[in-house]
Amino acid sequence: MLEPALLPTPLVDCTDEALARAGVELRLKRDDLLHPAVPGNKWRKLAPNLTAAVEQGHTRLLTFGGAYSTHLRAVAAAATALGLESVGLVRGEELADRPRNWSLRAAERDGMRLEFLSRTEYREATGRAAAGDGGAAAGPQWRWGPGLVLPEGGSNALAVTGAAAIPAELPDLGERDVVCCPVGTGGTLAGVAAGLPPGARALGVAVLRGGEGYLEAEVTRLHRAARGREFDNWRIDHGHHGGGYGKVPAELEAFAGRFERRHGVPLERRYVAKLLAALTGLAAAGAFPRGTRLTAVVTGVPDPV
Ligand SMILES: *Cc1c(COP(=O)(O)O)cnc(C)c1O
Repeated sequence: MLEPALLPTPLVDCTDEALARAGVELRLKRDDLLHPAVPGNKWRKLAPNLTAAVEQGHTRLLTFGGAYSTHLRAVAAAATALGLESVGLVRGEELADRPRNWSLRAAERDGMRLEFLSRTEYREATGRAAAGDGGAAAGPQWRWGPGLVLPEGGSNALAVTGAAAIPAELPDLGERDVVCCPVGTGGTLAGVAAGLPPGARALGVAVLRGGEGYLEAEVTRLHRAARGREFDNWRIDHGHHGGGYGKVPAELEAFAGRFERRHGVPLERRYVAKLLAALTGLAAAGAFPRGTRLTAVVTGVPDPV
């Protein structure tokens, strides 16, 4: 068990004038305070996988990520805390001979062995892992030895179960509630939707460009894998990705700065700031009926500067 720092995470009111004018309430679910080394939704998604890894007698975790992957750092930190080995398969063979960036250095400091793959190798290995959904023989163990394989971003059926605990910590959800989170791979949104009581809805904000159809299919696939059925209480907004994954336009940066000064909550830019800017924009445009209560999940922490 990876001990949380704080559970349940705090729920704070955060309605400002623009939202109040639209008749919309906003609360923040402060999952950014959950664990110092395995933040936010990464802890939610990893915790049940780690329990399963230990129960199944695994001594090594294998997973995937890009050069700045929060998931890789989270797996490295969690593995170290539990006395497990970890192997990170990194997209981009050209990175092997370059000085490590801060993110890969942090993963290595936590004992993760990094293996750098070409785009083609990476696609093949993640494909094998997805086919196994969390550790079947089809995974990349063929090359990197035995271990529990976690998919890119950590989103598998157990991750959905972990994220479903987020709405379970929100009291009195009903018809007027919309629980909102950013969408990278869709695991967090799938969990939030699966954990909602009848009447309440989930809204995901895609942080990458061109995810229409693909991300919905992923959430549906995860629901079938985790719960054996589909859900119709969620949707994904594709209009607020800010130009694509990792892009932070000046307008978004300005919004995030204002929000931080007003509310004293540090905003991770690639996901959390996009989510909050999207909710503010949607509310101002009248997308939510008056009386709607939004709860935004603060899924992570800002990068170190
Ligand atoms: C990884 C990450 C996400 C993406 O979550 P998915 O479950 O992959 O959709 C969202 N927010 C933050 C801060 C993250 O680090």
